Amino acid sequence: MNIVLLGPPGAGKGTQAKRLAEKLSLPHISTGDILRQNAKEGTQLGKEAKSYMERGLLVPDELMSKMLIDRFSNPDVKKGFILDGYPRNISQAKVLEGLLKQLGLDIDLVVYLDSAEEIIIQRLSGRLVCSKCGMIFHIKNMPPKLDGICDNCGGKLYQRSDDKEETVKKRLQVYRQEASALIKYYQDQKKLSRLSADEDKDIVLDNIIKLAQAKG
Ligand code: AMP
Repeated sequence: MNIVLLGPPGAGKGTQAKRLAEKLSLPHISTGDILRQNAKEGTQLGKEAKSYMERGLLVPDELMSKMLIDRFSNPDVKKGFILDGYPRNISQAKVLEGLLKQLGLDIDLVVYLDSAEEIIIQRLSGRLVCSKCGMIFHIKNMPPKLDGICDNCGGKLYQRSDDKEETVKKRLQVYRQEASALIKYYQDQKKLSRLSADEDKDIVLDNIIKLAQAKG
């Protein structure tokens, strides 16, 4: 099953993609996670991407294409994948389509996680991420058992630098510029299903699984 998760920053794509990937035993491919890992390791890609990420802007398409091609050269994608954070615009959607075609693969389902803007800002401003395993928490809605420590692996929790209010606003603005065209693109291909991301996270996950089962 090849699934793409779309939606505004803070809709819960990362949280749902992670859980879905575990449930379906598929690789979770998060372009944001790959970029953050590269930035942490100080690779050339990480250095180039960092200044865009810190400003809430999209990393240029050429860099993203290279990164995507590299990730999809890993044979684990043959059994299926959950793609989160890519594509962000039509040009990326076309790159993905071409790449999948070359690999003899296709997207089975695109889930658009829709969320109200007030909820997004509230979610992102309280979001905490594990520096070791990437698990996502929230200061109020999903606090860790021990302050600042990941329940899953004991790693240290941190706030993403692009989750500060000003950067969140910029990210939402960037998202809105591209979103409707991207949604239409997949609607026209009859691949898109829309879900509310503002329900309880277990209900959202169940709803995604039902959509996947209907396709499978
Ligand atoms: P995310 O973790 O998906 O919220 O992504 C964090 C940041 O990484 C974004 O604000 C962008 O700067 C960058 N990024 C992630 N995925 C992409 C993409 N597909 N195209 C361009 N930039 C991206």
